Parts: sequence; structure tokens; C-alpha cells
Amino acid sequence: MRKKIVAGNWKMNKNFSDGLTLASEVVNIVNDELNDDVIVIMCSPFIHLAQVAKNAQESDKVFVGAQNMSEHTAGAYTGDISAEMIKSVGAEYVILGHSERREYHNETNDQLAKRVDLALEMGLTPIFCCGESLEIRESGKEVSYVCNQLTESLFHLTEDEIQKVVIAYEPIWAIGTGKTASSQQAQDMHKSMRDFLAGQFGQEVADEVSILYGGSAKPDNAKELFAQPDVDGGLIGGASLKARDFVEIAKSF
Ligand code: PEP
Repeated sequence: MRKKIVAGNWKMNKNFSDGLTLASEVVNIVNDELNDDVIVIMCSPFIHLAQVAKNAQESDKVFVGAQNMSEHTAGAYTGDISAEMIKSVGAEYVILGHSERREYHNETNDQLAKRVDLALEMGLTPIFCCGESLEIRESGKEVSYVCNQLTESLFHLTEDEIQKVVIAYEPIWAIGTGKTASSQQAQDMHKSMRDFLAGQFGQEVADEVSILYGGSAKPDNAKELFAQPDVDGGLIGGASLKARDFVEIAKSF
């Protein structure tokens, strides 16, 4: 059975002390209130990661992830962070290919394919983001666009490897805009993605891959989104910055 996951992407928010307060609030509320079958992940800025990972050790339901990672293993790449560094502080996940990284840092599908490989080699779980712009959605080509992202970054993996990847479908037009995809729009895309994965890796394998929805998810719309058969959780931006809202979303299954 595939995992139910709620991952918070803090983006470039929270100074060190506010970040640690948020992390310990999340851990405390999760420990008191969350069912065992849901995994909560906090993807903090790099600077906070080691300490947030220590906080997360207080819970067997809370894990920690980075928001980005280099495609190089080590060396003269000033300012970059390697898979090994992320792993060495106790993080277990890494967001790859967030639309903000693709847009502001020109990350490409090929580059992301290399990062996915390195993350897996290092034992990190990639949270691979994909999703279309408003323009592509309005042209009706969103499924082929997203499937192409999957093909170019993930289809070189083995059946074993793809099951270790978490995929996040994040329509760009719904990120940080307050405009959520309807639960039907999310379900339709997730189903198309799962069918596409099944075409490459087989249905049994595709059924093991968790596909998260991201884009203005909040406590008041999470229940309906998570009730969809192919929506296995969420990647949460804005609402992950308040511990109560974030955990309420995780309780929405
Ligand atoms: C995100 O950036 O991954 C995201 C889903 O943001 P928000 O929830 O704020 O739309």
C-alpha cells in the first residue's frame, strides 16, 4: 500500500529560531494527534536542517527534507549542497524540481534526472515536482506536458527505483495564488500520471508510487483533495508555516 504523505515546503521563510519553534510545535502536535498511517515531512531551509532533523527524532511520524540539491557529488560548486551533506545531518527527503527552482534557476529535466539518481544513491527520497503553467493548462496540453517531465527525469529508473520516488503534482497556476485545483482536476491529472507510470513500469509498480498534490492546499480543502483515489497527500507551501494548519492538513485523510 502506498504511503500517505504530507510534506511542508517552508521555502525561504523563518529565521533560525522561528524555524526551530515551528519544527518543535509540529512534532508536538503530530505526536499528540496524528494517526500512525500518515508521514509528515518538514522541508526547511538548509541552514535549519540539522537542528530540525534533531527535533524530528522526537517523533516516529515526522521526517525532514531539503528543498534542493546539487547534481554534483562534491567539489568546486560554491554555494551548492550535496546529497551526502543532506543525508549526513539526518534528512531523508529532498524536494527536486520545484517550479520556483525551474523558473528562477533554470533547472532542466535532464539536470533533475541526475539529481534523482544521486539522491537515490545516497538513500534520500526525492520528492519530484512537476506541473504546468496556466498557459499550458489553457491550451489543453497539461497532461502531455507533465508526462514529458516524468519521462525526461524519471523514466530511466528501474522498477525498484521509481517506487522510492515521491511525485508531487503542482500546477504552477495554483502555487501561492490561493487558487486550488479542484479535487476533480487533481484526481484527473493524478490518474493520468499513474496510468502513464503504469505504461512504463507496470500497474503494480505505479500503484506503489505516492503522488502528492501541491497548490494552495489548506485545512479547509485538504479533506476533499485527499479523498480522491489517486491523491496520496500534499506538498504544502504557505500553510506549512503554521504548525496547527499544517497538522490539520495531515489529519485530513
Ligand atoms: C509549494 O510551493 O510547493 C506550494 C504548494 O505552495 P502553496 O501551498 O503556498 O501554494
